[in-house]
Amino acid sequence: MKSTAALTTGRIGPNVIIQTALTLRDRLGPDIATRLLTRSTSYGLLDLPQEMVEETKANALVRAVHETYGLPFARDVMAESGRRTGDYLLAHRIPKPAQWLLPLLPRAMALRVLLAAISKHSWTFAGSAQLTVTPGDPVEISLCHCPLCAGQRASEPICDFYAGTFGRLAQALLGPDGWAEEVACEARGDAACRFLMGSGR
Ligand SMILES: [Zn+2]
Repeated sequence: MKSTAALTTGRIGPNVIIQTALTLRDRLGPDIATRLLTRSTSYGLLDLPQEMVEETKANALVRAVHETYGLPFARDVMAESGRRTGDYLLAHRIPKPAQWLLPLLPRAMALRVLLAAISKHSWTFAGSAQLTVTPGDPVEISLCHCPLCAGQRASEPICDFYAGTFGRLAQALLGPDGWAEEVACEARGDAACRFLMGSGR
């Protein structure tokens, strides 16, 4: 079927590459950041993508960060990249009235609205993954065939980019106690990458 080809060559938003590159630049300097970026994606610091990118390139950059720097530093970099992506979405993609209103709503309702928005925009971050969402507090967001950790093996969940993005949005839109965490990860051998996002602990 036609749609199969589209799915196997999945594309995702450019923020994984952009925000990871900027985080690496700020932590390690432009030369090291450029080397890692260009080797894994063919983009450069001055030539960052503006449009949707092949998910294999985003995956290659995440993998390069992990393989070069090891688990603790790589997880930290990817979490910051995710938080920066959340900041980008809040600045450019999420209407200001929604940002004022959501924290004022009852938390269960705000979580439902946020989950619906995440589902609606999943094409920008899920790529060829299969997304499942489960309402509640916390809500659950599950990615089967996660594009970012594909091909990696780890002893703990490593999709910190997503956890960082969801966590930043939860804090801004649900209140300061908003949080998100990855509780299962395909890199660890779990059946899917599963994220919980809640309004408070
Ligand atoms: Zn994962």
